[in-house]
Amino acid sequence: MTEIMDIVTARDPGQPEFHQAVSEVAESIKPVLDKNPEYRQAKVLERIVEPERIIQFRVPWVDDKGEVQVNRAFRIEMNSALGPYKGGLRFHPSVNISILKFLAFEQTFKNALTTLPMGGGKGGSDFDPKGKSDNEVMRFCQSFMAELYRHIGPNTDVPAGDIGVGAREIGYLFGFYKKLRNEFTGVLTGKGLNWGGSLIRPEATGYGVVYYAAEMLATRNETLEGKTCLVSGSGNVAQYTTEKLLEFGAKIVTLSDSNGYIYDPEGVSQEKLEFVKMLKNVRRGRIKEYAEKYSGAEYVALESGQDHNPLWDYQAHCAFPSATENEINALDAQNLVKNGVKVVAEGANMPTTPDGIDVFLNNGVLFGPSKAANAGGVSVSGLEMTQNSMRLGWNRDEVDNRLQMIMKNIHKTCLDAAEEYGTPQNYMNGANIAGFVKVVDAMLDQGVV
Ligand code: NDP
Repeated sequence: MTEIMDIVTARDPGQPEFHQAVSEVAESIKPVLDKNPEYRQAKVLERIVEPERIIQFRVPWVDDKGEVQVNRAFRIEMNSALGPYKGGLRFHPSVNISILKFLAFEQTFKNALTTLPMGGGKGGSDFDPKGKSDNEVMRFCQSFMAELYRHIGPNTDVPAGDIGVGAREIGYLFGFYKKLRNEFTGVLTGKGLNWGGSLIRPEATGYGVVYYAAEMLATRNETLEGKTCLVSGSGNVAQYTTEKLLEFGAKIVTLSDSNGYIYDPEGVSQEKLEFVKMLKNVRRGRIKEYAEKYSGAEYVALESGQDHNPLWDYQAHCAFPSATENEINALDAQNLVKNGVKVVAEGANMPTTPDGIDVFLNNGVLFGPSKAANAGGVSVSGLEMTQNSMRLGWNRDEVDNRLQMIMKNIHKTCLDAAEEYGTPQNYMNGANIAGFVKVVDAMLDQGVV
């Protein structure tokens, strides 16, 4: 464990998010390595932390004022033991190689848990779509694809969306790939419904997180009915987490964006949620407007440098972090436990810091780690690839039923692996162990490549 961290930190100094992700997995899988000496002998850990390939490129584009802008972009092709590289693209000013490597590393195990044939990858750019016109976003996407197209393909690497990359961006990216290759193919997922997309793909991550939370609660003979829930974010994952929670009879009292959050003691209704969807997806406005429209709700601006996030300091039973990494620290976790939270299901990737996770595990919180709880999105992306290959589209119920079945299986896989290695109900260990074993067994079968 220390050995691998020594290697990773020496080789890649200044990549704290990547170190954090590796350290969490390395800690969990120690008993697996002790039980299976052939893994150590074949240096699987040393191999799995090293991306198979990293592509870095310049993205020049011209803004609406006629000025040239230059962004930096990456694609991390992390691991192809189980299938073509698969993972989203993130457009956000914070994007750097450390963040994308952590996401690609996590993605490898997440994709393994889905049982679908997908390797792990992730990519993106420090481009900020916020405040840009549609034309600027299109020009950026076209310049981005002008390089990326030579590295991806339906049997090689199949990107999707993530923060800052939704239906609009996937459309522009797909259009330009098609033009360059003269090929209409399933090279991206999250496509529009009438040009190769899958029903339920936009909903899949959020719905899947709620299915996972329901499975965790069922182990204690409880349901989500009547439970008060804290949700962060107001993008794709937060919106559809909220929608499914409403369907299951829960009450959602918070939503946020990077400037602040709303607290609505009456709860977010379906009608209010429709307003949020329109606000965020069409008007591309700020969550503050929710409190301006609904007088029962208050808006709290977030200040930088705060030692905790007040969004996590309300009485509730469940928490669904759905914005970004490290949004729950140890103090936030203590506040959540103090306020009665018994279930945390991670919609965002790695939203809880390691000491925050310790607080949850030490207090008997049902903690669904991101690589298991939010695997619904990539699962339906996998189903989109299947439908593209078959050149047909399943109906809504068919996709949703498959999604539910996959989330149920992932939950059981994590539970069983945690039990087998002596840490019952520790879903984090279960997810890390089950994902790791599946990937490294395939790597061993395929030789030293
Ligand atoms: P969106 O871009 O649709 O929404 C992101 C939301 O999080 C926005 O409300 C955004 O606010 C907020 N946010 C982003 N960065 C920060 C930050 N640094 N601090 C506070 N708030 C922030 O992205 P998604 O909903 O798709 O993604 C959310 C999380 O879920 C990410 O961690 C992503 O990796 C993960 N995820 C997404 C999947 C998917 O299918 N989309 C699949 C699996 C995981 P603002 O508008 O101010 O930027």
